[in-house]
Amino acid sequence: MTTFKQLGLSTGILEALEDLGFETPTTIQEKAIPQLLDDQRDFIGLAQTGTGKTAAFGLPLLNLIDPMQQHTQALILAPTRELGQQIAEQIDLYSKYLPKINVLAVYGGAPIHTQIRALKRPQHIIIATPGRLIDLIKRKSVRLEELEYLVLDEADEMLNMGFKEELDRILSYTPSTKLTWLFSATMPAEIKRIVNDYMTDPLEVKVDRKNTVNSNIDHQFTFVNRTNKSEALTRFLDVEPDLMGVVFCRTKRDTRDLAEELVRRNYKADALHGDLSQPQRDRVMKRFKDHQLQVLIATDVAARGIDVNDLTHVFHYNLPDSNAYYTHRSGRTARAGKKGISIAFISSRETRKINSMERELGINFTKVRVPSADDIVANRMEQWCQAILDKNGHPEVGKKVLSMAENMFEDLSKEELIRRLMMNEMEKLNLNSHDLNASQEKRPQKRRPQGRDRKYGRRGAGRSHRKRDYGRRSKR
Ligand code: AMP
Repeated sequence: MTTFKQLGLSTGILEALEDLGFETPTTIQEKAIPQLLDDQRDFIGLAQTGTGKTAAFGLPLLNLIDPMQQHTQALILAPTRELGQQIAEQIDLYSKYLPKINVLAVYGGAPIHTQIRALKRPQHIIIATPGRLIDLIKRKSVRLEELEYLVLDEADEMLNMGFKEELDRILSYTPSTKLTWLFSATMPAEIKRIVNDYMTDPLEVKVDRKNTVNSNIDHQFTFVNRTNKSEALTRFLDVEPDLMGVVFCRTKRDTRDLAEELVRRNYKADALHGDLSQPQRDRVMKRFKDHQLQVLIATDVAARGIDVNDLTHVFHYNLPDSNAYYTHRSGRTARAGKKGISIAFISSRETRKINSMERELGINFTKVRVPSADDIVANRMEQWCQAILDKNGHPEVGKKVLSMAENMFEDLSKEELIRRLMMNEMEKLNLNSHDLNASQEKRPQKRRPQGRDRKYGRRGAGRSHRKRDYGRRSKR
């Protein structure tokens, strides 16, 4: 398997990738990065959002920019303000250990004067939407005479949005010596025309949808009131006793409070946050890896570099501020080819954020419900029955005890005996039947593109229900 180091990236960039938890390059990164670093040649990358294409051009660009040269060396054109911001955000994260590289995103819908002021300082990389860039060029705030790299991101989208003339115009302002890297999901005739008119002998690399960053992750979200979040979390833990997960919170304090509450309620949980000393952190991680903890409650910063392979779930107790962090968080699960679930606890007002993540990360979310008490009973009792079926005669029940029990149960029918055994088992679950979904779901919801709705986040059917241990937790 190729590593980022083998692709030829600098140490500063490698460190930033490690912090972000990017372990291996995606297909487009593997194919594009060495070419873009070494080849002084135009490039076409046919890749969708979600394939890691931003890093595929962003990382080599950062490697190639000379921070000592005080002029605009690279221009990245993006069809929308959101994509522009997203690119700027990613470049910012990738460049954190590099000598200061100035990056500025300019787009319509924001005050132009602020952007003009920012452009008075030399900007090594400008990220722009086409319309606003032309305005800024006309006002002589952006100068492209010494441009070395032009990246056209989502070129097909730019044309779909009617930026054909703007593109032609911008291309005419750039020097013929620059290199053009064009990224597009599709190759319609109009893109072919741009390639023919403005690019020289480009190298073409294509990756398809199945090469998205991690297609083994099932992305889900559920509506929960803030006050019900910890209860909702325990429902998910109750319904899946084999679950092993990380719960992401926004602040150190949230992680501590939640971990304390879970421990009080006899769940095997602990917090991982920036105030822990290295030995304390190592101890928590060891307990987690040894499965002495079922859930780790962490902040984004503390969770960097968590390398545990068998996480089944990632919970977003709060949504992260940036999409890159969402990818980083959810990428803690579904590692080494396994499947995993990423569940976000959101309020109905955050539906927009989910929609925007779907668009910008190229992923689909499914709405799920917080498991109800009935779901938990059904699931746990099914597992209990399976555990009985799996019993193979060890340890032996002594003859005397067995005949005592047979005598005592003699007058009970098989049905009645099963019913009473189950009642006895269910009492141990001692569930709270309050429906946590109700309050949020009454509100009318805005557009949900997929319109799918699942009961709760169970992993695929057919899982083995062995290794169950009902005695390990006494319930509330
Ligand atoms: P993109 O296709 O550029 O929109 O990337 C989608 C998401 O994947 C971004 O949020 C990146 O942070 C993330 N990403 C990019 N490359 C990798 C990688 N090699 N490993 C893990 N995540 C990645």
